[in-house]
Amino acid sequence: MKSLDDLPQQTAVAAAPATPTAHTGNATLLALLDRLSPELASSARFEALRQAIADATDASALARQAEALAGLVNRQYRQLGEQRAAAERLLTHVKLQLEELAQYLTREDADHQDGNNARQEFDSHLISEIDALGTQMQQTCDLGALQEQVQSRLGTITARLKVFREREGARERDWQDRAERMNQRISELERSTQSMEASLRQEQQLASTDPLTGIANRLMLEQHMAEACRQVSQAGAEICLLVLDIDHFKNINDSFGHAAGDRALRIVAQQLQARLRADDVLARYGGEEFVALLAATRQDAGLRVAEMLRTCIEGIGFRGQQQPVRITLSCGLTALRAGDTADTAFERADRALYQAKRGGRNRCEVL
Ligand code: GH3
Ligand code: MG
Ligand code: MG
Repeated sequence: MKSLDDLPQQTAVAAAPATPTAHTGNATLLALLDRLSPELASSARFEALRQAIADATDASALARQAEALAGLVNRQYRQLGEQRAAAERLLTHVKLQLEELAQYLTREDADHQDGNNARQEFDSHLISEIDALGTQMQQTCDLGALQEQVQSRLGTITARLKVFREREGARERDWQDRAERMNQRISELERSTQSMEASLRQEQQLASTDPLTGIANRLMLEQHMAEACRQVSQAGAEICLLVLDIDHFKNINDSFGHAAGDRALRIVAQQLQARLRADDVLARYGGEEFVALLAATRQDAGLRVAEMLRTCIEGIGFRGQQQPVRITLSCGLTALRAGDTADTAFERADRALYQAKRGGRNRCEVL
């Protein structure tokens, strides 16, 4: 978002650092902090660090804060690495599962083929024995010899049948064992896949949620923005983009402490969320800035929603150190247009917000 630093402030900012060297270092570290991703930047540790950097008055204090900053950045990299590793574990697991199933099916296929061959072999043997018997019956007049022949052939057939039955019985038992083992294995794999999916979902949920307020974070918003632009350009959807920035929020931190500031952010997020519909998206963009995407909303209706949100926040009875504190916000609104990208839409909403700030704050502007 555009810097609003050049706008008039109600109260003075934190005390300036003591030495010029420290001052340059402070500014550099603070600028570095501003370039970090919003997921990290919105954490309470980040804000404490920002305050500590602003307060650092000498080089050694700054060096300690620089180390703390490096620690935070490393933690973020670790988190990203963990998510990727969880997704990779799940994919490998599913791949192994499919390979195992494929092996089982190949073995079953081969076994089925063996069974067919054995049956065919038995059938052809039976036919040839019966054929031979028929021929002998025609040729032999000696009843005793014929009886012997019949008995011998029946003996052979019975022996073959016994072997065949034993083999088929063994095959059937093997098949049942294998099918049972495979069923158990599939249930096991299903259970472990489900638990892996659940932990991946949890990781993704953490990665897409703002930890302070519990609403969507900037990463999530970017995905919704891309989809919203696509819907507007390709399907003619009507969607409004609102950028809502709390007015003079720094004063709340400075006057009542950082914890009160955090509490105010949580309350504002809850109030905004409670007044939007299920199809709308509300995200914390960073710091004290929120963004809403209003689904199926034309610009005039969007402005009414923005006004309703603004008056709702104006009316919340927030208290800091037992004193009533008036919280207001300014809003820049724009209706997404065909051909918009997230950047072009944000740029317009941002300019509208800038106008609202310049126009006196606690107001909504449309562009
Ligand atoms: P404006 O009306 O021009 O928007 O003024 P502002 O004071 O709201 O804006 P500015 O950008 O000067 O200050 C924003 C402040 O918000 C500075 C920063 O310390 C504070 N802030 C950002 N994130 C957090 C947070 O997570 N918790 C708290 N307590 N403060 C935060
Ligand atoms: Mg502000
Ligand atoms: Mg701001």
